[in-house]
Amino acid sequence: MALLMPRIEVTLSKIRDNAQFLCNFYGRKKIDLMGVSKAVLGNPLVAEAMIAGGVKFIADSRIENIQTMRKAGVLTQFVLLRTALSQAESVIQNADISLNTELETIKELSHYAVQHNKTHQIIVMVELGDLREGVLPKDLSQFIKDADTLSNIQIVGIGCNLACYGGIKPDNAKMCQLSELTHSIEKDLQINLALISGGNSANYDWYASAQDVGRINNLRLGESILLGYETAHRKTIPGLDTSAFKLVAEVIESKKKPSLPNGKSCQDAFGNSHQYLDRGIHQRVIIALGIQDVLVSGLSPLDDLEILGASSDHIILEDRSTHFPIGSEVTFGLTYGGLLAAMTSPFIKKHFIGCPDSVLPLIS
Ligand SMILES: *Cc1c(COP(=O)(O)O)cnc(C)c1O
Repeated sequence: MALLMPRIEVTLSKIRDNAQFLCNFYGRKKIDLMGVSKAVLGNPLVAEAMIAGGVKFIADSRIENIQTMRKAGVLTQFVLLRTALSQAESVIQNADISLNTELETIKELSHYAVQHNKTHQIIVMVELGDLREGVLPKDLSQFIKDADTLSNIQIVGIGCNLACYGGIKPDNAKMCQLSELTHSIEKDLQINLALISGGNSANYDWYASAQDVGRINNLRLGESILLGYETAHRKTIPGLDTSAFKLVAEVIESKKKPSLPNGKSCQDAFGNSHQYLDRGIHQRVIIALGIQDVLVSGLSPLDDLEILGASSDHIILEDRSTHFPIGSEVTFGLTYGGLLAAMTSPFIKKHFIGCPDSVLPLIS
């Protein structure tokens, strides 16, 4: 039977192997990993593959994704990366640990933790220059002191997130700052902070060159496990597989046509104006996939094809050497943005290629 198109092909064994490689790599300096599942919408099979590779936690920014994995029977510690006041009850019911920066939210979590007779663990995020989430370093001690008095709330550690909004590098200076903050909080408040979470897939260069990782003992990795690269410069990490995800679409038109549109110019379907290069008559193919399904700039053709442009439902490519007849398959590699959009599109079928030790059925 022919496989459905468009589809995203997910090779679970590659994700497991990437997770295993990174667990060993970071484990050498006693850093353990959270596998971040948000780019795959908390897909239970992908989470299982990460767990089979050795990650200690599964982390996601969406409580709905954590719910999906729990319902599917994934057994691990779940970490919520983004906590909203209005979701406090669900956070208590579904996550073991959450990242937090607001006392009011932690009070609400405490309220529901008491109601559900649970202890909820919290990692307090510190602002170290990237200007996304985080308590300011000067306010951290008082913040933890206040949070620690709340019933059924346990402050297990601190963390930071860089290279996201501000594009600030998680370098040795930033990691030292996080270690020093850990020491000073512990001294100030006479507590032990067990979990110091230094960052995400952008922390690779820091780790690779660090003599001493200080107090950092955890990282939260999505992209490196899934796509095989670090994210400070989007360099492939030696030893990792970059092809766990492939997008396959169907050719629905294949013809020799001029490369230059013909007639008076106006705006395209998205309100943009274009300049086209005259390449003469060339072989063009159209695939049944468009802006509604994917981030077109997040696709890289694995065949000798060049993306010329796209509209909502069509991508137009130049077919340079091979001839792709209608009905044939065109395959693309994906960036993070491409992966995120493809996993989210209801029109793209999710096709999983087996992972030997998965206990969950291979369905999407
Ligand atoms: C998304 C996210 C991560 C993972 O980032 P990757 O680039 O996928 O490694 C880590 N921490 C937080 C807080 C996040 O939101």
